[in-house]
Amino acid sequence: MFDAIRIVLVGTSHPGNIGGAARAMKNMGLSDLWLVAPRAQFPHPEATLRSSGADDLLAQAQVVDQLADALSDCTLVAGTSARSRHLPWPLINPRQLAQRAATELTQPQARLALVFGREDRGLSNEELHLCHCHVHIPTNPAFSSLNLAAAVQVLAYELRMALSGLTDSETEDFWGTAWDSPRADHQTLERFFNHLEATLTEIDFHDPDNPRQLMSRLRRLYLRARPDTMEVNILRGILTATQKASTQDSRKPTCSNN
Ligand code: SAH
Repeated sequence: MFDAIRIVLVGTSHPGNIGGAARAMKNMGLSDLWLVAPRAQFPHPEATLRSSGADDLLAQAQVVDQLADALSDCTLVAGTSARSRHLPWPLINPRQLAQRAATELTQPQARLALVFGREDRGLSNEELHLCHCHVHIPTNPAFSSLNLAAAVQVLAYELRMALSGLTDSETEDFWGTAWDSPRADHQTLERFFNHLEATLTEIDFHDPDNPRQLMSRLRRLYLRARPDTMEVNILRGILTATQKASTQDSRKPTCSNN
């Protein structure tokens, strides 16, 4: 189960924090570390020093340019945030996340990503809108921001507490049986969102020049529903049929009254 948990650090400025995060992960039995566009060179001696022996995790860490590259095969994506944002999104605490992970990781091909933001400004709204849910570590509201590696430590600890020593009956999903089709992963969902946006634009429901919050709200709706791969196929089939119907419709001669 621990192998299916990925820690993703986005735009980290201080290599020491990358090392501290690796140490926290290894202490709790996690090993899959991804770095999205770290701002200092990587590998870095300060990262190795602060990892205090978790340098094997640093050596295996994947470095990518875009957050989406780190998420493509993940079925549940949780973004962390030190403060509340404009558009409300499903928000849970680390213990609730760990419980959700215990259920999720019993499913075939499940993979959980925990996304952590930049030291100075966290994750952007766009990055947070890639996530199924947001995790906030309850803190003093007047001083809510933890050090990045400390935030990784808190979440990794809760995951360890929730996942180790679970009995089989505790990991049974609340459907009473295993789900019949694997959850759609990030990449599959992003393709669906692109298809949805294109279709809504074609039928003049969505104006890319005046988007308001339409796509963010639709993302939130579908991410909340956790569609599986079969359900996404059905939705995409509906979109394709809609596109076809709208093309045929626009070719029809306009009706006259005579
Ligand atoms: N000034 C930034 C704080 C970033 S702290 C902001 O306003 O968002 C760096 C990262 O540590 C955050 O992006 C988040 O991933 C994690 N973090 C820090 N404090 C947290 C908290 N209370 N709950 C959840 N994550 C937190």
